[in-house]
Amino acid sequence: MKCSVCKDKMIQRQDVIELKINGKLFLVENVPYEECLSCGERVLAPNVSQEIFSKVTRKEYREKQMFVPVVENIKARAV
Ligand SMILES: [Zn+2]
Repeated sequence: MKCSVCKDKMIQRQDVIELKINGKLFLVENVPYEECLSCGERVLAPNVSQEIFSKVTRKEYREKQMFVPVVENIKARAV
């Protein structure tokens, strides 16, 4: 498969991904996806994202406590 953004080659990976669903941040483990080597664009197959969304909808997940580093007070402005 070729990247839809930059047309470069995409590779198959399987890793943890972050997803925001209805404003809530989820970490999803062992997700198979394709990633562009050049621009980092990630593509989930429709059946993969469907499974993730149905697991979230049916609350088939565990809540784990973790600490997330938060960087505050960014002063630089987007150019
Ligand atoms: Zn790309």
